[in-house]
Amino acid sequence: MIKMNQHKIEDLIKSVESKQPMNLDILAQFIRDVASRSIPVTTIEKWLKAVHRNGISVEETIVLTREMMESGSILNWDDNRLVVDKHSTGGVGDKMSLILAPALAACGLKVPMLAGRGLGHTGGTIDKLESIPGFNCLLSPQQMQKQVFEIGCCIAAQNDAIAPADGLLYAVRDVTNTIDSIPLITASIISKKAAEGLGSLVLDVKCGNAAFMKTQTDAEALARSMVGAATGLGINTTAQITQMNFPIGKYVGNSLEVLGSIEVLQGHGSSDTRELVVTQCVPLLVQSGLAANNYEAEIMVVDVLGNGRALDFFKQMCISQGVDGRVAELLVKNPKEVLKFADNATRFKATESGYVGSINSMTFAEIARKHGAGRFSIEDEIIPEIGFEILIEHGQKIAKGHDWLVFHHNEQITEDDLFKLTNSLEIANQKPEQTTRLISVIS
Ligand code: URA
Repeated sequence: MIKMNQHKIEDLIKSVESKQPMNLDILAQFIRDVASRSIPVTTIEKWLKAVHRNGISVEETIVLTREMMESGSILNWDDNRLVVDKHSTGGVGDKMSLILAPALAACGLKVPMLAGRGLGHTGGTIDKLESIPGFNCLLSPQQMQKQVFEIGCCIAAQNDAIAPADGLLYAVRDVTNTIDSIPLITASIISKKAAEGLGSLVLDVKCGNAAFMKTQTDAEALARSMVGAATGLGINTTAQITQMNFPIGKYVGNSLEVLGSIEVLQGHGSSDTRELVVTQCVPLLVQSGLAANNYEAEIMVVDVLGNGRALDFFKQMCISQGVDGRVAELLVKNPKEVLKFADNATRFKATESGYVGSINSMTFAEIARKHGAGRFSIEDEIIPEIGFEILIEHGQKIAKGHDWLVFHHNEQITEDDLFKLTNSLEIANQKPEQTTRLISVIS
């Protein structure tokens, strides 16, 4: 294997530090050497810090992303036009993947979805699925491919077989405070999605006080970078900037979000969640050529959510990923009989009358995490049954004394939790304007 000498690596780092273009061949070799663990960590740290401080160009980001993708297995489809996926930058109550993968498969698309665990205050698809007894997210690339050929979709945990260069780079970023760099986030996310062999991709870039990107400007900058890299690798990509101030749908927490997903797949559930699912499915159906236009695509999604087809694909996915057939059958009919519930359900009442203005997602996320719905360190075990059930919708009229929230918890609630949760609901005097979550689109 050809390896780079130290002199060339120093030149590469100098180029980034002086904001000059990197030699792309040397950059590519550098990433190959990172993947084969033949570069000292101190050198990787220096390069990461330079990129974090100075940024890099779109062209350099594409090379970085491609090399990271090629550092591991790449799923191979004879024709990838119908192979699609979605990535979300993370929110509160964001259960979209659990609904989207089977709904898209029911429409005729192939969805080899790789997903993550909870990160910081945000929940993770894998933690949610693992609250279903027997659900196995540890699939090899070969198992993913086989399942997608057989039933149209799978949801698997990110692992070292896919884009292993990202594993090391991410770990070094974590300890060098270089996580929040747009090109590094882009390459990390898109390399893993590109390794799925996708034809089309939708990016849900969350924006607001419970998102990593707080402002529209920052969210759009990340979206442009990710669209640039994914498009540069030949993936038909659309980014949607969506509002992440109040929680998505009626549930927050791992098993509660499985319940919320099944309710939507059963054809009812929260209108907020349904709307976001449709918003994300539509461009994938159009970009892949399965629907002629947005209108036709919307009808296809609404149909599979309403006629039980998406629910059936969800059940098949559960069985294929280790859930006992009878348990899967009961889960899709009566999820409350399968999912675990917490010891206590504490109800909260509105302290005044008016209209539901905002609900502070960050308060929910932090309190749920503290009670076990999320992790503070990698060894922490998730307690799946912890979470919130929101009994009201944005903009609805509410009377003083009306129940609006149920907190499902095992441990005692502190005075501080009580105070924060009571005050997390903002009641407006006037009916707030009806808003959709979609803020802007970048393609
Ligand atoms: N998720 C990833 O996979 N990588 C990042 O860098 C950030 C979020």
